[in-house]
Amino acid sequence: MSDAPGRTVIENCAIATVDAHGTEYARGHLVLAGDRIESLGAGAAPEGLAGVVRRIDAEGHLATPGLVNTHHHFYQFLTRGLATDHNLFDWLTALYPTWARIDEAMCRAGALGSLAMMARGGCTTAMDHHYIHPRGAGDLSGAIIQAARETGVRFTLARGSMDRGESDGGLPPDFAVESLEGALAATEETVDRHHDASFGAMTQIAVAPCSPFSVSTELLTQSAELARRKGVRMHTHGSETVEEETWCRELFGMGPTDYFESTGWLGADVWMAHCVHMNDADLAAFARTGTGVAHCPSSNARLAAGIARVPDMLAAGIPVGLGVDGTASNEAGELHTELRGAVLVNRLGPHREAALTARQALRLGTYGGAQVLGRAAEIGSLEPGKLADLVLWRLDTLAHASIADPVAALVLGAPAPVTASFVGGRQLVADGRLTTVDEDEIAASTRSEARRLAEIAGE
Ligand SMILES: [Zn+2]
Repeated sequence: MSDAPGRTVIENCAIATVDAHGTEYARGHLVLAGDRIESLGAGAAPEGLAGVVRRIDAEGHLATPGLVNTHHHFYQFLTRGLATDHNLFDWLTALYPTWARIDEAMCRAGALGSLAMMARGGCTTAMDHHYIHPRGAGDLSGAIIQAARETGVRFTLARGSMDRGESDGGLPPDFAVESLEGALAATEETVDRHHDASFGAMTQIAVAPCSPFSVSTELLTQSAELARRKGVRMHTHGSETVEEETWCRELFGMGPTDYFESTGWLGADVWMAHCVHMNDADLAAFARTGTGVAHCPSSNARLAAGIARVPDMLAAGIPVGLGVDGTASNEAGELHTELRGAVLVNRLGPHREAALTARQALRLGTYGGAQVLGRAAEIGSLEPGKLADLVLWRLDTLAHASIADPVAALVLGAPAPVTASFVGGRQLVADGRLTTVDEDEIAASTRSEARRLAEIAGE
């Protein structure tokens, strides 16, 4: 085939494909062609391949699908390390007045910082649930999408919104919320301008009102109608804390899941962050409707929210992905450490050592994430024909060399260095450094924009 696209050959590594059979190779090869995985298997790559432009000897490495993040708030990169000893509602109340001062330059810095942290840690598909749009703040969605394009990470912007301010019984201050009509119009415009439904899309948009306690019933209902009219996915926060459960029962006379169902917010096109406080009927409703979950173990622990019933969700067939959540409630902002967090946190729950295996955690962070983002046909496992989104984790140094099993080394060991990561065949990380953007410049801009935000918020 003389017209074959340029091929990349990766050899001599362990491979965890995370396919439906959990196929693994102790020593194998991958061939990438253009933006796709062409072939993979045990042993060396076939000889005589035409058009090979790059050969990588991945001795001492584990190849996995790129990690897929399913819940994040990029702007929070500028408010890390604040309100460190609060539960969710107190934390929100402490931070909303600062968050309400963000502008386009701050959003850009926060997005670049978040994306860079995620990418150098093996994340190849990121998402940002951005729900704060102060009046006159500029084109925040455009700035965030531009940052994702510059880093080269595959990206879903969940265009968020809030219209229930303090005077309507909500948590955010009134000046931080949009009008019902304004939020819906801006969300529709963002979908029209930026959503790409094609195979291999680098930018997708989801409709994402923030949470029951910051959004009116009308905004929830009409957002669901908008998303389904446009054929895009829906995302929000749900059942995060006991306080939210109490708040919903007092205001609506029902728990969060029943409230979501009454507003059109359960379905195979919906994924929800947290889902910590779910009874058996709630889980059955998610399973019946195919509603997905973004499990955020570090954030749930940091905000003392509780332990999501992930083993029960998986047993019920609910799609579950992993999320770092915003870096104001998970200062690390890295997805590979959430693999470990998911195993450890869930083993503290009632299922104890049977709660979650290392391989199940890797599956949540890859294929599970692809499922909840609606992209399981494109990404999330290493299979011929899928997009070449993958990571080479270095496991032959002091931190991991003596750990018997490469998947256990990745999930339970210290955060593994990323030697290389690819998105659609394009290399984003080389020897632990980003190839697309300058990490040091980004670090400096996050520091100066964080300082500027603190000054404006303090006025
Ligand atoms: Zn969140």
